[in-house]
Amino acid sequence: MVLSFFQNACILIAFMSIGQNFFKEKNIFCNSSLNDKVAFGFFSGILGVILLMNSVQITHDTIIDFRYIPILLSALYVGLIPSVIASIIIGAFRFFFLGVSNSSIIGLICSLFIGVGFGIISLLKSSKRRKYIYSMILLIIVSVISSFIALKNVILIFQTLTMFISGYLIISYFSIKYLDYIIETIKIYQRLKNEATKDYLTGLNNVRQFDDSFNNISQLAIRKEEELSMLLIDIDYFKKVNDNYGHNSGDIILKGLAEILINTCRTYDVISRMGGEEFSIILLDCSDSRAFKIAERLRNTVQNNNFYISDNEAIKITISIGISSYPKLTSQIDNLLENADIALYQAKNIGRNKVVLFNNDKN
Ligand code: GH3
Ligand code: MG
Ligand code: MG
Repeated sequence: MVLSFFQNACILIAFMSIGQNFFKEKNIFCNSSLNDKVAFGFFSGILGVILLMNSVQITHDTIIDFRYIPILLSALYVGLIPSVIASIIIGAFRFFFLGVSNSSIIGLICSLFIGVGFGIISLLKSSKRRKYIYSMILLIIVSVISSFIALKNVILIFQTLTMFISGYLIISYFSIKYLDYIIETIKIYQRLKNEATKDYLTGLNNVRQFDDSFNNISQLAIRKEEELSMLLIDIDYFKKVNDNYGHNSGDIILKGLAEILINTCRTYDVISRMGGEEFSIILLDCSDSRAFKIAERLRNTVQNNNFYISDNEAIKITISIGISSYPKLTSQIDNLLENADIALYQAKNIGRNKVVLFNNDKN
């Protein structure tokens, strides 16, 4: 019996570790999408079925299993939908694959009742601890009723219930502790990954991510024989903004400009903060003339935008943009950034608030 308990614990830990890898890129434990909730429900349902098949022999006549643990975890951590889906899978498996009998009908009803019950408890506005206590009370009530229906011998009922309740208390406690640990690990992983690739102020790609993306995108453009354009954007006289309005106001402008860049570009264009008040945009499958139009639109939007540095104080800024484009203006794709920088330098030199296309003949 001890070995069976151990086996169940191992199955739970193995599944949670697989789940950690499966869900580590998703926000499954806060504001998850419907698809992720459904996926989590299926995952929990499969775990429940495996636990159901690894039941623990208590006495000669009675067995218990831990099929309700995944339903409990689904409800506590993700909510009603995965809890109900997991309970349907477990109940249906019990009903269709282990033979239709009185106990399989009771099993199906209990499973659905527990799934919906745990799910409704998960909707309550109380702490996880309270929800856990309510769920365990519900589980005990359901198991007492089902034992009295399925078993006739009072001593057997007492023995089974004692083992069932103490087994569930122990396994559920350790499962919750382990899942808390996994969630903490996922959060740290996601935060580190985000910090390694994103600029902390604007949320855009940082230079490291720009390099990685540019390497991949440029290889792809060569292979697919597509055009690739690059905009290098720099705020004009930004030092004066900081000097006149303070560093915090400067930060607000940088965030505001990042928003304009995101709203003006297509979702698959790669926008990065290259440092200070300099930004780049890699425009995929985009000609020099189209890049010029996009840059002009950007320059105009920024020029006309009010950047609010407080509730009633707005300031205006302008930007200069240098453009390079492969293969028309820049034959070596690796020179795109350098050439956009040369064009940006010219835009500054001819008076700022300008868009300049890199021109190989002039350099
Ligand atoms: P130009 O038109 O030639 O580009 O002039 P500029 O003043 O914009 O350029 P300069 O390179 O002289 O100054 C850039 C300024 O950007 C200086 C620095 O204080 C400011 N800056 C760099 N990073 C940040 C930041 O994260 N936040 C804020 N608020 N300012 C920053
Ligand atoms: Mg500047
Ligand atoms: Mg600069």
